[in-house]
Amino acid sequence: MTKKLSGFTSKLVHAGHRHEPSGSVVTPIYQTSTFAFDSTQQGALRFAGKSEGYIYTRIGNPTLTALEECVTALEEGAGAVATSSGMSAVTTAYMALLNSGDHVISTASVYGPSRTLMERHFSRFGVGSTYLDTSDLTQVEAAFTKATRIVYVETPSNPMMQVTDLAAIAKLAHSHGALLVVDSTFASPYLQRPLTLGADVVLHSVTKFINGHADVVGGILVAHDLELVRRLRQMMVVTGCNMDPHQAFLVHRGIKTLSLRLERAQQNATRIARWLESRPEVAWVRFLGLESHPQYLLAAKQMSGPGAMICFELKGGLKAGADLMNGVKLAALAVSLGGVETLIQHPASMTHSGVPEAERLATGITDGLVRYSVGIEEADDLIEDLRQALEPQG
Ligand SMILES: *Cc1c(COP(=O)(O)O)cnc(C)c1O
Repeated sequence: MTKKLSGFTSKLVHAGHRHEPSGSVVTPIYQTSTFAFDSTQQGALRFAGKSEGYIYTRIGNPTLTALEECVTALEEGAGAVATSSGMSAVTTAYMALLNSGDHVISTASVYGPSRTLMERHFSRFGVGSTYLDTSDLTQVEAAFTKATRIVYVETPSNPMMQVTDLAAIAKLAHSHGALLVVDSTFASPYLQRPLTLGADVVLHSVTKFINGHADVVGGILVAHDLELVRRLRQMMVVTGCNMDPHQAFLVHRGIKTLSLRLERAQQNATRIARWLESRPEVAWVRFLGLESHPQYLLAAKQMSGPGAMICFELKGGLKAGADLMNGVKLAALAVSLGGVETLIQHPASMTHSGVPEAERLATGITDGLVRYSVGIEEADDLIEDLRQALEPQG
């Protein structure tokens, strides 16, 4: 039985863990593909869904259940489904909730593969989609058709940290008979809980903040009601994109420090963003904790902190950005985010290189834009690292 817990950090540490007969404090890795039944009757009852218990690891495994119960508690949902990657969580949501002929409204700057999968592949099966700035509800309202079944929102969005008002867009989606699905990877459940604001499904790439140690790829979906959980789980099971028990164990270990890691990382990020804003080489800085962010107030209302993602543009454009990225020594030049180590990358040539140039520029991703995922190192060291890269002679 899961303990009764109220505080978020207590849930991080305890939610989902079972007391095994051995007394193990953490849930062990159940490294098994299958589970033996006591009798044919018991096997039949489990297959019929009339008796609790495990059958086969693609369908369920106690190490996965422990993680799923933990994230369900954090997101205040009805249940969760862990998946092999963040992208398999996205695929499971699309597959479970859409039929041929349906239509999706989506944030234009969603994670690239989430858009490619829908535009290039679900379109082959007759699913239509419209991409727009979901932070502008007038645009969203105008895009509904009779066939719209899902509003798919990523907030804050990557890399421009655009914020969509979740409570307002949930009402709008529901008034048109559509479900709201939120990719909340950039916030993590520590900073934002979309289900409490009216979303139907929230999903994460646990690769990022939830695991937090840059050593696992994984995903998870959490739904607002049991019927949605059942539909998502059935789809995960038939498509075979289950998380592996060893992966689940590592994620459940990493998640325990989510609030500690994020508190430190966002303190660092706040100092670094202010410092960047004061630098003559920097044209502008986008960070949710700066008053200069156009949605500073909405972010402060919807989220409990600004997070740890900064993007900024150097006055020297592409060349200055490349020199900075080649010049840093502490930050690693790598994609991904949300780990204990600071990462720096160049969206125009890396994460967003697949987006057509005109569209990339229209969403604000200029050639000189730098994305910086702040880790938990000493802020002074990170600032010194940026300073020596900005003034190579200094
Ligand atoms: C990384 C990421 C994904 C995809 O997750 P993977 O674990 O790499 O499959 C989806 N959405 C967002 C916002 C991401 O950052």
